[in-house]
Amino acid sequence: MVVTKQVFDGRRLLILLSVLLALGFFATTLGSYFVSKHAIREAIIGQELPLASSNIYVELQKDLVQPVVISSTMAHDTFLRDWALRGERNVDEMNRYLQEIKTRYGAFSSFFVSDRSFNYYTGNGILKRISATEPRDAWYFRVRGLKEDHEINVDPDLANQDAMTIFINYRVFDFSGQYLGATGIGLTMDAMHRRIKDYQQRYRRTIYFVDGQGKAVLFGGNGAPASPDLHARPGLRDIIDRILLEKNGGYQYEAHGTTHLLNVHYVPELKWYLFVEKDESEALAEVREVLYINLAICLVVTLLVVLLMNLSLSRYQRRIETMAATDKLTGMLNRQAFTILMSRMLAAYQRQPHPISILLFDLDNFKQINDRHGHALGDSVLCRVAEQLQQGLRKSDIAVRWGGEEFLAVLDNCDSQEACQTAEKIRQRIAQEKFEIDGVQLALTVSVGVSQFSGDEAVEQTISRADAGLYQAKSSGRNRVCVAAAAPSSA
Ligand code: GH3
Ligand code: MG
Ligand code: MG
Repeated sequence: MVVTKQVFDGRRLLILLSVLLALGFFATTLGSYFVSKHAIREAIIGQELPLASSNIYVELQKDLVQPVVISSTMAHDTFLRDWALRGERNVDEMNRYLQEIKTRYGAFSSFFVSDRSFNYYTGNGILKRISATEPRDAWYFRVRGLKEDHEINVDPDLANQDAMTIFINYRVFDFSGQYLGATGIGLTMDAMHRRIKDYQQRYRRTIYFVDGQGKAVLFGGNGAPASPDLHARPGLRDIIDRILLEKNGGYQYEAHGTTHLLNVHYVPELKWYLFVEKDESEALAEVREVLYINLAICLVVTLLVVLLMNLSLSRYQRRIETMAATDKLTGMLNRQAFTILMSRMLAAYQRQPHPISILLFDLDNFKQINDRHGHALGDSVLCRVAEQLQQGLRKSDIAVRWGGEEFLAVLDNCDSQEACQTAEKIRQRIAQEKFEIDGVQLALTVSVGVSQFSGDEAVEQTISRADAGLYQAKSSGRNRVCVAAAAPSSA
């Protein structure tokens, strides 16, 4: 019969340990995640972005600053100025000049607009005469009134099927400072978009140019961003004025649930700002992946540890329970186990009454054995008798070492009559057995008292009646079974 009574609460300890373990693991994992996140953010803001933006700036010198330099050279070219001052006579000369500039520098278009004739010269001759009333010629009159020596302007190119073009419009003066017109070259936007897209792929950053008003003017790909005006962009709108004022620096802002890390580099030649941006979540994807793997490992380790702890705890607990429930010498159940099992049996009796009987065994003249052969042999005798006793009982019965040389058995589903038969069988078995222990031949007998649980008494009363039966057996000569008289019904 299995006795399960929790000797101590292992579950609580287990939960506490697993919580501590999990907390420790998660704290260290999360701690290292935040440390690496911080380090990565610092590295992006402090080194990566400025470095990328410097590299891009250097490449940009070639792509955008060079055209400005070329346009400036054109504006200061003595040939161009002399040709205009001489009255723009030989148009072929100008054609050749503009054609040469265009092919030599790989420009999309090259032009000169004379302020005297209003002729728009290209490498292919006179394109048109510009007029102050034509909206498409407004750019020229704007350039004419510029305070600066040049501007960068994005417009459709009349000379090239209206392809969107970046024009560098440089003001031309004669040698005494008289305004002569505007010259410069045009670059296709498509080419620039492609270049920026190429930078973006190479540097894995978002790259775009912003003008002095905070408008994104040049970006990767073909499609314009949803809102070119950065004053309308979530996150950026709060810092754009500060950025424009400070001209250079590292910034960060929140938009669409992610942190954007931004480096700004002012390009004085263009009067534009180079924005190099990185989505932090993208940069942290790898660290986050490591975090998830670590957390998964923590979870598995925690579960494994909890499982192993649970296993060894339950084993330990079972051992303790068994130890606490059994008699060391005979291996029989002890009184504590009896109390637990008996209360279980009585609970079952309450649900469904059935006969329960108790046998109380006592070895006859055991003291003499001890006295003659010593205590150790007496112990062996007790073990042998316990074996005999248990062999004579059913599995469902409870066999307990009750005292020194007293044993108690509870017989479930058994009335006193059947119990007497069982007791008698055991008595005979012991009496007939020739015990030989440590070379000593022994004849043993037991006396047995039997009683049946009345149903409305305390078990102690049933036991004490069995004890009365035992006393009767002893006093009437030992080696016999006596039934105690049934308790008078309390009803
Ligand atoms: P009776 O027939 O009247 O029962 O005689 P008895 O000698 O068996 O009765 P008594 O109760 O006087 O003696 C019981 C003895 O059992 C006394 C005690 O020393 C011995 N005893 C009790 N526990 C143990 C034990 O664990 N080991 C051994 N060897 N002896 C024990
Ligand atoms: Mg005794
Ligand atoms: Mg005895």
